[in-house]
Amino acid sequence: MSDFQLAQRLATLPPYLFAAIDKAKEEVRAKGMDIISLGIGDPDLPTPDFIIDALNAAARKPANHQYPSYIGLRSFRQSVADWYKRRFGVVLDPDTEVVSLIGSKEGIAHFPLAFVNPGDVALIATPNYPVYGVTTEFVGGIPMYLPLTDENNFLPDLDAIDNDTWKKAKLIYINYPNNPTAATAPRSFYEKLIEKAKEFGVIVVHDAAYTEIYFDEANKPLSILEIPGGKDVAIEFHSLSKTYNMTGWRIGMAVGNASLVKGLAKIKEQMDSGIFQAVQEAGMVALDQGDQFCDGLRAIYKERRDVVIEALKKTGISCRVPDASFYIWSKVPGGLSSQDFVTKLLKQTGVVTTPGNGFGAPGEGYFRISLTVDTDRLKEAVLRISQL
Ligand code: PLP
Repeated sequence: MSDFQLAQRLATLPPYLFAAIDKAKEEVRAKGMDIISLGIGDPDLPTPDFIIDALNAAARKPANHQYPSYIGLRSFRQSVADWYKRRFGVVLDPDTEVVSLIGSKEGIAHFPLAFVNPGDVALIATPNYPVYGVTTEFVGGIPMYLPLTDENNFLPDLDAIDNDTWKKAKLIYINYPNNPTAATAPRSFYEKLIEKAKEFGVIVVHDAAYTEIYFDEANKPLSILEIPGGKDVAIEFHSLSKTYNMTGWRIGMAVGNASLVKGLAKIKEQMDSGIFQAVQEAGMVALDQGDQFCDGLRAIYKERRDVVIEALKKTGISCRVPDASFYIWSKVPGGLSSQDFVTKLLKQTGVVTTPGNGFGAPGEGYFRISLTVDTDRLKEAVLRISQL
């Protein structure tokens, strides 16, 4: 059998971060160790029954068995618009400002195909969800990374970017609540970003997958679209994955500036054939009727967050108390590198975490804990960390 050469763009790419972690985890599991997986950001709790029931009913309708619409059912896009209005006070035209996605990763990954030419610069706040940089490179774009650090509150320092760089930039990627740092962005940050984006004609890509996992009712994460001028410059990627424990269902949406949504839809038309309509109908039920469920979900993550923060404090490991997301961004103790610490932790204790540097160079010296197991297992995990 011939062994064919990968294309250059893949041959030089390191393995996808979480695929590499899964592999290491399986090796340790094979040795019989009890694994506590705080690595990938995949909710452990099931999709609630009211959404599954909606899927069951929708799957029985023959009309749902054929190819779906490329841009999503009109009724799904209307539910997205209604949800944005209710949650953020943002008015969206479902016909021009909303497109359905097969999970937001799909949309984020396809977006550069629509707007980035070879040689175009993409500014990427980092540490970051790896997809922004990799897919920029796939289309010949040039990622330029903006460091997120404790000192800048994990917000890119927009004033530190010189005018030449702004002029070269085609787009800027931001993500709040942030994965992996769990930082949130204040209104003033979005205001300044929109001002800069307008001045230099830069597209803002806001990945908003975690806006519903927050812990302070008085300080809910924002949509960039609720800030004046947001719709002039931004596309926002959102998803039902984390909000309703639906990661496996693959359903999300991109909303915002009509020309950006149209460009993405044009690429998607060439690349995929939309989401199973029954999943869209279930997604509508989630968006229309899921607010109460989300209240309960937030309470669960808040309890988990508090358990871990309290336990980490006792071990002397320093970390930020997150206002949102289900991640805890912690400092690696003992002067080890992120990778060495995480590997040692996995091999000696069976606790899987993610090395901070896997999300970009400024993540070195940190590790990320996902709050995706129950409180007893979280307590056990932190105990094992402290024993290491
Ligand atoms: N954006 C961020 C920051 C994420 O962490 C994830 C998933 O972990 C996604 C996007 C993709 O989510 P999905 O494709 O399930 O909508």
